[in-house]
Amino acid sequence: TFVVTDNCIKCKYTDCVEVCPVDAFHEGPNFLAINPDECIDCTLCEPECPINAIYPEDDVPAGQEHFTALNKELAKAWPVITVRKDALPDAKEWENKPEKIKLLER
Ligand code: SF4
Repeated sequence: TFVVTDNCIKCKYTDCVEVCPVDAFHEGPNFLAINPDECIDCTLCEPECPINAIYPEDDVPAGQEHFTALNKELAKAWPVITVRKDALPDAKEWENKPEKIKLLER
């Protein structure tokens, strides 16, 4: 499966959701999550993310391994998103800030 990681938090660019052939993306207040039971590893979403927040499960950055389970958990709780929308208003300011996990809203 592919995994959305820390850098998505507080930015939430949604370019990825439009290319997913199986509607695996789910939307929360300030993060997107991929449902691993839907993802077919097509790889299409990975290059769409302007801030490189999406990784294959086997290639998640060190220290962010817990995002694999987190994506699964949050995807179950949140609605599907299939249409691109504007990023969060202050997305630019939050790009590439470390450890945004503390700011994840559920
Ligand atoms: Fe969807 Fe493909 Fe990304 Fe999996 S890898 S979430 S199937 S776009």
